[in-house]
Amino acid sequence: PLTIGILALQGAYEAHAKTLRTLGATPRLVRLPADLEGIDGLIMPGGESTTMLKFLERHDFFDTLKTFVQTTPTFGTCAGAILLATDVENPTQKSLAALDITVERNAYGRQIDSTILHADSKLPGGPLEMVFIRAPRITRTGEAVETLATREANPVLVRQGHILAATFHPELSHDTRVHELFLNLVRHHSH
Ligand code: GLN
Repeated sequence: PLTIGILALQGAYEAHAKTLRTLGATPRLVRLPADLEGIDGLIMPGGESTTMLKFLERHDFFDTLKTFVQTTPTFGTCAGAILLATDVENPTQKSLAALDITVERNAYGRQIDSTILHADSKLPGGPLEMVFIRAPRITRTGEAVETLATREANPVLVRQGHILAATFHPELSHDTRVHELFLNLVRHHSH
């Protein structure tokens, strides 16, 4: 089975572990750079990207992770997507620059900052449930980025090669299609 790391410095990592187990993958919580060794893919969960960055400043973790995500399949949800982006706004902050998008943090107004939507996506199997929690908004996607789902006109699920990112929280839905998509991406990458 695939071993999938989940960055577990802060945030919503337990729900990802549960979904991965449901799909037959082996989750491994990643807290130190050495925990990245031997994993087939990595999930960077939601939470607070600024807090995660603070933890990443320790043990040279930021630089190790930046190199790691250049070659290993990585899936970022919400705060994880913010960390993967090339450009972060509101406010500007440091990022791993592995995914060619501009992302605006906390981009939805107060009343609609946390919401559940159902929308069609490029994934087969009907409308996708999307749980948004103080979500960022993707305001620009580079040429190499494929949009797999949108909220109004903005991409909410995107892929660039071995990098997948969602501004919502698929680990909080029963629907496992987004995680399955990531596991397929990992499988194809390792062959
Ligand atoms: N607002 C958070 C941030 O800017 C992201 C929210 C989330 O991950 N649910 O990092």
